[in-house]
Amino acid sequence: MNAREFSIDVIKQLHAAGFMALWAGGCVRDSLLGREPKDYDVATNATPEQVRELFGHQRTLAIGVSFGVISVLPSAASMKGRTRGLEPIEVATFRRDGGYSDGRRPDSVEFTDAKEDAQRRDFTINGMFFDPLSDSVLDYVGGQEDLHAGIVRAIGDPEQRIEEDKLRMLRGVRFAATFGFSIEARTIEAIQRQAQQISVVSGERIGNELQRMLASVNKTTAAELLLVTGLLPHVLPRSPLADVPTVSSRGIAQLSQLECSQFESAVVALLEPVLGNGENKERATRFSSALQQAWRLTNDQRATIAWIATHWKTLHSADSRPWPMIQRLLIHPAARQAIAVAVAVAGDSDGTALCRQRIEWPENRLNPPPLLDGKDLIDRGIRPGPEFKRVLDSVRDAQLNGDIDCPDAAVQFALQLLEQKE
Ligand code: ATP
Ligand code: MG
Repeated sequence: MNAREFSIDVIKQLHAAGFMALWAGGCVRDSLLGREPKDYDVATNATPEQVRELFGHQRTLAIGVSFGVISVLPSAASMKGRTRGLEPIEVATFRRDGGYSDGRRPDSVEFTDAKEDAQRRDFTINGMFFDPLSDSVLDYVGGQEDLHAGIVRAIGDPEQRIEEDKLRMLRGVRFAATFGFSIEARTIEAIQRQAQQISVVSGERIGNELQRMLASVNKTTAAELLLVTGLLPHVLPRSPLADVPTVSSRGIAQLSQLECSQFESAVVALLEPVLGNGENKERATRFSSALQQAWRLTNDQRATIAWIATHWKTLHSADSRPWPMIQRLLIHPAARQAIAVAVAVAGDSDGTALCRQRIEWPENRLNPPPLLDGKDLIDRGIRPGPEFKRVLDSVRDAQLNGDIDCPDAAVQFALQLLEQKE
């Protein structure tokens, strides 16, 4: 059983118990677009208590119960023949949201019917229901029409809907970019007017939306929309370095030249005018830390952004640099992203051509095991000291350059270096 079948199973059980149950929101939109939904949400007129009673406390979680949402876990039978787990299905009771006072979440909810439930959803394309048992769409908000026309339109009064929940501004941009839709005029005006209010949304939610937008083939459209809506300067960390409005159009042009779809390289291409031109390590380090804080990035993401920002320029001129220096960069896990950034920012060069060719070398040629390590030196009676690392680095350089090719030669070379020093 897959996620889709599991959700239909849940709907059938609710039906059998005399309730109404439908697919709701994003999964309806994605199905109508012929896309694979990320998850299947079910909406019902059963109350949360009735849902728990029907599926049993063992199989249900009440994490979202304050919003009328019960998570239903797959039964042992539905897991038959599966090696990987099915995600729980969220079953939400049709609801109307009470007032919003924090700009993000409703203060209270009241249970109601499908028609009213549609009104609390953010965009018309996200406001439809679908009955998979009769194959019929329930559309109270004109969602089908907007889906066909390619329009992201707030349900109800755009100004008010965004005032209630500022996250909707980023969601709207993400849906428009992902589907290649336009944002309806009054909706985009409302976003433009409230753009700076995006700061009331948690960094985690902002970071999550931006990661989804930038780690995508539609990243350039997303960035353009962030600029047009005025959101871009307000999702970036405040920094004395940032002159965002003037750098952005160049950043977007660079982003559009980026041929990979990974988040970190997209950030560097877009923000290169702020991150620095690839040779100011301190600037890259400082700004990537600010980004980590603002968007709650992992340490790994921060380090990768800083590494790409620091090294892409070296790769761009790889043909005129010592080969061991380039080789050490090419074995870094983010090397491909850095090459893509070098091309996007500074264009193709002999350096990027060299990198692209040599990064395809087999592992044992690109990254051969070192001929010598510290232990080998100690075994030969040499005492660890300040010279150690310098000598080992020089031996590694000589190996990568092809000047030495066996452990004996490496030892000889190391001894020579140590003698010279004395
Ligand atoms: P995706 O899962 O691809 O991000 P989605 O539209 O399914 O898109 P979810 O966060 O899974 O987004 O939410 C499911 C549905 O819940 C949405 O389609 C929408 O109807 C409603 N919804 C989600 N977030 C909001 C919000 N901030 N304001 C109003 N309705 C929302
Ligand atoms: Mg979803």
